[in-house]
Amino acid sequence: MRVSLVKSERSFSAAEGQSLLEAAAAAGLRIAQGCRGGSCGACGARLLRGEIEYPHGPPLGLSAEDRAAGRILLCQARARSDLEIEVDELRRPEEVIVKRLPCRIERVQRLAHDVLALYLKLPSAETFAFRPGQYLDVILGEGRRRSFSIASAPHDGALIELHVRRVEGGEFTAPLFAADPHKRLLTIEGPLGRSYEAGAKTPQAPLLCVAGGTGYAPINAILRDLLERGRRRDLHLYFGARTRADLYAEAHVHALRLLDPTLAYVPVLSEPSPDWAGRRGLVHEAVLADHERLDRFDVYVCGPPGLIEAARRTFAARGADPSRIFFDSFDYAPDALARQRSSASTRD
Ligand SMILES: Cc1cc2nc3c(=O)[nH]c(=O)nc-3n(C[C@H](O)[C@H](O)[C@H](O)COP(=O)(O)OP(=O)(O)OC[C@H]3O[C@@H](n4cnc5c(N)ncnc54)[C@H](O)[C@@H]3O)c2cc1C
Repeated sequence: MRVSLVKSERSFSAAEGQSLLEAAAAAGLRIAQGCRGGSCGACGARLLRGEIEYPHGPPLGLSAEDRAAGRILLCQARARSDLEIEVDELRRPEEVIVKRLPCRIERVQRLAHDVLALYLKLPSAETFAFRPGQYLDVILGEGRRRSFSIASAPHDGALIELHVRRVEGGEFTAPLFAADPHKRLLTIEGPLGRSYEAGAKTPQAPLLCVAGGTGYAPINAILRDLLERGRRRDLHLYFGARTRADLYAEAHVHALRLLDPTLAYVPVLSEPSPDWAGRRGLVHEAVLADHERLDRFDVYVCGPPGLIEAARRTFAARGADPSRIFFDSFDYAPDALARQRSSASTRD
């Protein structure tokens, strides 16, 4: 099937069962992408002609209104006929230079019982330009890859910082905790995903950042970049975790507050011990309890799909401007998702 892009007048072919995002990438086209699980909405496009299908059901990242307006998500959509679509291709040089590079885990820091900071060192002759909010993939072979947001700011220097949470039984993350990964060699590909130009359109607007667990990683990069470039805005950071021991980024937040003592930091625990005097409940509920209206904010929400789904549902109803709200969903890797779906369908 042929897929034509109306803006650039380019086209590519898509095989049956292949996602439009994979088909576009195979043809060398660069299109914004995020979670690749249908949650974040980064690979959105408009279908002008033809028919698509979603083998896994309508993606969470599209509302009924989006679908009625012809909006589709390329990571989930499969072509059922020739198509005409409208989508923005990435052109800016810092977004298009995606490299596959070897690197070494130069430093490891345990940030919590189930979170490690990995500091990656690239070969000395290589450069790795990225923008805050972008991520990289660790390549495992046979088409399998694992995504991690970059927690350091672009100007931070030679090492790339990642915050990696252990997934029980996870092929990549579990072994990192079982044996010290210091000096281990990895292959990475990146930078990937959209960058977040905080305040690009609304430099004076307050910025509301909402993190679930290691969803803090790209927020750290964004806030450091903003503060170290002297861009002063009203900053609000909500960090959701289960227990006090899961508030892994206290030292990072402290470093940010040295740059901007007015940064408002609200840790929210969903399973606190009785002596916790701070906020309790789910992190998006704390935001809603504190802010009757969200119209004035630029909003960045990052973390597990459940948080993204809850924030998407509730923040718009409080007036958050859809063009100024940005979701970054930490979905499962495509092969893990496929395994999970196939074991769920065997159980049904
Ligand atoms: C764009 C993007 C950026 C991300 N950035 C980060 C980051 O900065 N830090 C971070 O810690 N994670 C991040 N993630 C999530 C991370 O990619 C996964 O946790 C990782 O792929 C797990 O790899 P694994 O090989 O250990 O587990 P797998 O072998 O892939 O999975 C093992 C089993 O665990 C379950 N599983 C898989 N992933 C998850 C998950 N995320 N949560 C709960 N259960 C899961 C599945 O049932 C799966 O069958 C990001 C994801 C995306 C899409």
